[in-house]
Amino acid sequence: MKTYRIATIPGDGIGKEVVPAGQRVLEAIAARSDAFGFEFESFDWGGDYYREHGVMMPADGLDALRDKDAILFGSAGDPHIPDHVTLWGLRLKICQGFDQYANVRPTRILPGIDAPLKRCTPQDLDWVIVRENSEGEYAGVGGRAHQGHPIEVATDVSMMTRAGVERILRFAFRLAQSRPRKLLTVITKSNAQRHAMVMWDEIALQISKEFPDVHWDKELVDAATARMVNRPATLDTIVATNLHADILSDLAAALAGSLGIAPTANLDPERRYPSMFEPIHGSAFDIMGKGLANPVGTFWSAVMMLDHLGEHDAARRLMAAIERVTADASLHTGDLGGNATTVQVTDAVCALLASPANVATAQAA
Ligand code: ATP
Repeated sequence: MKTYRIATIPGDGIGKEVVPAGQRVLEAIAARSDAFGFEFESFDWGGDYYREHGVMMPADGLDALRDKDAILFGSAGDPHIPDHVTLWGLRLKICQGFDQYANVRPTRILPGIDAPLKRCTPQDLDWVIVRENSEGEYAGVGGRAHQGHPIEVATDVSMMTRAGVERILRFAFRLAQSRPRKLLTVITKSNAQRHAMVMWDEIALQISKEFPDVHWDKELVDAATARMVNRPATLDTIVATNLHADILSDLAAALAGSLGIAPTANLDPERRYPSMFEPIHGSAFDIMGKGLANPVGTFWSAVMMLDHLGEHDAARRLMAAIERVTADASLHTGDLGGNATTVQVTDAVCALLASPANVATAQAA
């Protein structure tokens, strides 16, 4: 029997509620499998760790994660610590340290979810956003000088390398090729950003020749927001820079009904390092500690983790259980207009995973 070593990093806020919930559903799915199990190790890094140690994670933290098969992450954010400290001190340290250069964000309207777009059926909105996750606008290149003086200057230099752009575009074309519609939209802002974004366009054309069966088009990021709202069915796989895809994927999550549902994978496609799976929402301090957090974004992230580990049957079973639960309005949390708690949703998913009927549904799907 294969044992996967999983690091869990709940982090801050509702991360401390949804990651244990995610671990519970993974344990429930492993309990019904003769083929694999999990060995979890939890790391208490984040805002509380920072208050005690002055850093979000220890200097040798990456070494503690290096031999794991995957990482399940919650969120990093604390109202008393500047956002750039929480982000750069933990999540980005892991993403960049392990070169998780492909950030993958599927968006679908799950059964029972009331999405805000009129005239949009679940068939019209089935996207995967691929976000460049290692450089670009979030490369961390820049600085400040003359601080506090009228001549103060600050720069954030967006840095795009040919190697970085080629690998993310190749990944996106390959992903588009693996999906039924074989459709890719390459998003840039190459009218205004006339250096790096023009290079993206050139590289996209070059890489497209390797994938003659993929239909692809280009869109400027501002026009892309309107297209997502007005013509969602014209999109399938989408690739964009670190900043652009960050914004577009929050829009995508909102259009699909709630930030609380949306999952992410931070992948090292070459598998040199562990990949990291997390809900896209943040720490949501307004609801933390109340048991109100929607754990579905974490469960869907666990589905992505199972797929990444090669446990496709288990991934299908977990996704089927999630969809059965979202279809039942009495199991909707507050973000979806319901009254259910994190524990009730988690119990319901675990109960379905324990029932043979769910297995049959997933196999039929
Ligand atoms: P951060 O600064 O860490 O990004 P944030 O609180 O600014 O966190 P999010 O946590 O991403 O931003 O979400 C914004 C709001 O959406 C939250 O305040 C919360 O009300 C709601 N929300 C987000 N995730 C969930 C969830 N899983 N369940 C229920 N509500 C959620």
